[in-house]
Amino acid sequence: MKHVDEWREPKLLRALADRIAREATRPWTLLEVCGGQTHAFVRFGLLDLLPPTITMIHGPGCPVCVTPLEVLEHARRIALRPEVILCTYGDMLRVPGVHGDLLSARSEGADVRIVSSPLEALDVARRSPERAVVFLAVGFETTAPATAALIELADREALTNLHVLSAHVRVPPALDALFASNSVDVDVDVNVDVDVDVEAHANANVDVDANVDVDASTNASTSTSDTTPTDPNTPCIDGLLAAGHVCTIEGTDVYAPLAERFGIPIVVTGFEPVDLLRGVLACVRRLERGEAGVENAYARIVRPEGNPLARAAVERVFSVADVPWRGFGVLPGGGLAIRERFAAHDATRRFALRGSVGADEPIREPTSCRAADVLRGRLRPLDCPELGRRCTPETPLGAPMVSSEGACAAYFSRRSAHA
Ligand code: SF4
Repeated sequence: MKHVDEWREPKLLRALADRIAREATRPWTLLEVCGGQTHAFVRFGLLDLLPPTITMIHGPGCPVCVTPLEVLEHARRIALRPEVILCTYGDMLRVPGVHGDLLSARSEGADVRIVSSPLEALDVARRSPERAVVFLAVGFETTAPATAALIELADREALTNLHVLSAHVRVPPALDALFASNSVDVDVDVNVDVDVDVEAHANANVDVDANVDVDASTNASTSTSDTTPTDPNTPCIDGLLAAGHVCTIEGTDVYAPLAERFGIPIVVTGFEPVDLLRGVLACVRRLERGEAGVENAYARIVRPEGNPLARAAVERVFSVADVPWRGFGVLPGGGLAIRERFAAHDATRRFALRGSVGADEPIREPTSCRAADVLRGRLRPLDCPELGRRCTPETPLGAPMVSSEGACAAYFSRRSAHA
């Protein structure tokens, strides 16, 4: 990529939208997984560019949003201990919890510090050996390697005062749950086609066919599923735009079981406007041909094998665990727990957290916020009656209005810009 403007070129975007309109012969509903993609769709007006045949559903790809109330309450209780310094990303401070957010805990005397990287927490631990430093680690597969590096470094330096409260989650189990409630299982035979034939030369004069042509020599040969919804509130989703940054770490094969089980096309997609419309076009082409499978439309960044070094670091430090997601409940394999080998750096062990929240009083999502429905694609943020009324970035009722990747925040910004 030479200049970011090349990926936002209006003429090319219009040409891509026209191509999508010509090739979509019937309505298709696509899900984009990542909150960063949602923000780009909204911020750059791509939803207005798409033809009426294409409906985009926003997915659960906002790690702050899916962090459950239990974890937030754990973090707040830990932060209020006088010996603790709690470090976390800025987005986490305003997320409403059961008894307030971390910002209010700070006003009650808690030492809560914002960090932009896990290694800043390491510095805090080095400089404060008399305090227990807890890093609240939130994020998908993309940020887990940095947390793994933090734990390994703390272990190497014998920094016994550094602990991690892991809220790392894995995307495929959530998508599996979403599609399981969205469609019936189909018996399909899907070949995974990892396409690398998307050249990155976006400029106004370029021939659109050359730019948007995705590999037509696919081996995938199955029909897409007959999506009969098993949950009447969940929209039927025909195809998926997978988050490119997750695949940067995990590779493209991570989505193959999903494509196979549900007989859907999954297109690994980037985050710039041109990336997104190319992803939509690739997905539409597969749907029109009746082809399931995985396709890489972000080949300038994503390699089929992902990043083996980063995956190895995560594997050394974490094991796959069943964890709760907001809106989904406990997802089998939905998150990462710190291995026994690094127990000294595990905040759940250091502070004996297991079962400590919810035992004294049940944890319930507030009825005023419908974040769970937003995360499952059942409610468009604009249809939430609280958006822009009682719920704003200054007075958020739920995480999707707080996080920089939250769908509600995206729509609020867009609405404000046009007010
Ligand atoms: S607009 Fe606010 S209240 Fe409505 S779902 Fe989003 S975060 Fe919750």
